[in-house]
Amino acid sequence: MDCIFCKIINKEIPSEFIYEDDKVVVFKDLNPQAPVHLLIVPKEHIESNEYINESNSDIVGHVFAVANKVAKESGLENGYRIVNNCKEDGGQSVNHIHFHLIGGRQMLWPPG
Ligand code: AMP
Repeated sequence: MDCIFCKIINKEIPSEFIYEDDKVVVFKDLNPQAPVHLLIVPKEHIESNEYINESNSDIVGHVFAVANKVAKESGLENGYRIVNNCKEDGGQSVNHIHFHLIGGRQMLWPPG
């Protein structure tokens, strides 16, 4: 499967993991939008949030728990934002579900 995030997870492409467990990896976004911009990526290849349902939604709770842990370790005591872009209108560019953990500056609302 030609998926860039699967290749990173499988260590076919070198990447420095901030965190890894049996379900997710966390690494720095290549094109950071804030002083801290990490990607939390489930190891299972799920294309987007469109494919999250009652049978596999546990992973989302795990992602949020990991986000809290790595946010603290990244100095984001003052807060942060978690973003999931879903499909074309959501601005998704990599079709492997992932969650942006962004912080280190004041976030704007509404987002662009
Ligand atoms: P999205 O637009 O929500 O699908 O987010 C995809 C993100 O992946 C973008 O913020 C990209 O900068 C990031 N990205 C793409 N390729 C890589 C890579 N090889 N390593 C780290 N981040 C990447």
